[in-house]
Amino acid sequence: MEQIERDFYARDAEDQQAFLTQTWCNECMEADLGMKEPREYEVDGVIYIEGQCVKCSAPVFTEIADEDTDGDWDDEA
Ligand SMILES: [Zn+2]
Repeated sequence: MEQIERDFYARDAEDQQAFLTQTWCNECMEADLGMKEPREYEVDGVIYIEGQCVKCSAPVFTEIADEDTDGDWDDEA
């Protein structure tokens, strides 16, 4: 599956902070340890942020279910 590069740093500072701190590490089996060196990309319409666990440097992935920057979701509320 093709990966489409996205610019993580184009996000709001607040969003960046949230993604960098709200993580799950499969190695540590612990949430919210944080990630470093984030990279954002899209695969088949799903956006992922990939980084390294701050504690153990294992790969950490965050999947973004809804991309609200596209708008037009108003009638879903
Ligand atoms: Zn870890």
